Amino acid sequence: MLLEQVEYVRPQSLDEALEILANDDGAAPLAGGQSLTNVLKNRVASVDVLVDISRLDDLAGIARTADGGLSIGACVTYDELDRSADVRQTHWLLGEVAAHIEDQQIRNKGTIGGNCCLSDPTNNLPPLLVALDAVMELRSRAGQRSVASADFFKGYFATALEPGELLVSVTVPPMPAGSGAGYTSLAVGADAKAMVRAAARVTLDGGTIADSRLVLARVAHVPVRDTDAEARLNGGDATEESVAAACAGVADGMQPIADVHGSSEYRRQMAKVMARRAVSQAVAAARGSRNGSKAGGN
Ligand SMILES: Cc1cc2nc3c(=O)[nH]c(=O)nc-3n(C[C@H](O)[C@H](O)[C@H](O)COP(=O)(O)OP(=O)(O)OC[C@H]3O[C@@H](n4cnc5c(N)ncnc54)[C@H](O)[C@@H]3O)c2cc1C
Repeated sequence: MLLEQVEYVRPQSLDEALEILANDDGAAPLAGGQSLTNVLKNRVASVDVLVDISRLDDLAGIARTADGGLSIGACVTYDELDRSADVRQTHWLLGEVAAHIEDQQIRNKGTIGGNCCLSDPTNNLPPLLVALDAVMELRSRAGQRSVASADFFKGYFATALEPGELLVSVTVPPMPAGSGAGYTSLAVGADAKAMVRAAARVTLDGGTIADSRLVLARVAHVPVRDTDAEARLNGGDATEESVAAACAGVADGMQPIADVHGSSEYRRQMAKVMARRAVSQAVAAARGSRNGSKAGGN
């Protein structure tokens, strides 16, 4: 289906973009356009003005922060994440997950900002950013605010963004010493969307897991931390047996979603498996030189 007639503007500065968005209820930011144009073509939503933010300098580039973390512009593409030496050096898994999103055409255009602001529960980056304690930097004409990634995703295609507000960048803190990250997905069929996904980060103190993050996706409409499982992991041995025991109760306190792809109980059981694999990857990565293990598919 073709796009309905829509006005297109390309502001020359962030301030100009914020001004347009503040003054026009029918204006929407256009980043990579990979999802928004499909939404418009399918008449799921309509907008009056597409505000092309994809070439704004303030939303571009990846910079090292003073504390050794990363500041990633909202319009950085998956391909740029994959190819960034800074990302690969300290947050290897972020580049690796980006490198596995769909195909090269999507990776050339899709942006970290669009991936997060769409808040599609099947998107790859949100659970990993929550596991990495990323912070979303938002700007509107009224000013700037920071929102923890764990609080940014509010629901099915819903975020903490207020009208007229843009995600400008994503700040990813440095990986603590002795840390590693892991990421696994269960998808049925080569081209299928993930049915259950887990992202983990662990910090080791010798043979003990000193700290952990365990984030599940597709058990709810937003990424959720399983803090009960984290509590069982923390202070436990970093062995396969101990990780498996801690992950045996993953999602037990949750009511996973059910849909045509899988029942609630099936998702709960698969969440345990994905969690164990993601945590095991994270432990292996923490022991090795890499700051994250290999991504497990789509
Ligand atoms: C065939 C196909 C397969 C795909 N497969 C995958 C996949 O396997 N994994 C995956 O994660 N994704 C997948 N996607 C989605 C893709 O990653 C999109 O690029 C992503 O969802 C949106 O990013 P975008 O930059 O294209 O954003 P856009 O489509 O331009 O925008 C998406 C939404 O976010 C808003 N927005 C964008 N940037 C900002 C900002 N900085 N501030 C405020 N609001 C903003 C827009 O207004 C819009 O509502 C797929 C898409 C297609 C078409």
